Amino acid sequence: MAVDLDPALMEILACPCPAHAKLHSGTAADPEADALTCAECGRSFPVTDGIPVLLLDEALPETGPGVDGVHGSDGGGLGSG
Ligand SMILES: [Zn+2]
Repeated sequence: MAVDLDPALMEILACPCPAHAKLHSGTAADPEADALTCAECGRSFPVTDGIPVLLLDEALPETGPGVDGVHGSDGGGLGSG
């Protein structure tokens, strides 16, 4: 079942990532999923009881930067620090 949030709410919701980008319903893999996906970083956030959980810590696994293989440069070695 797709997320059915108030359009006005969707207008003010933004991803907690640094880009604070707009969110769209569903995920890249499942447009009907109960989740919101960031247009910028690609993270998907769960929607629980109609309430979007927009926390980076709560982002769905296997979503986010680099997951989609965009601009895949074979760097190897993340070196986050
Ligand atoms: Zn984002």
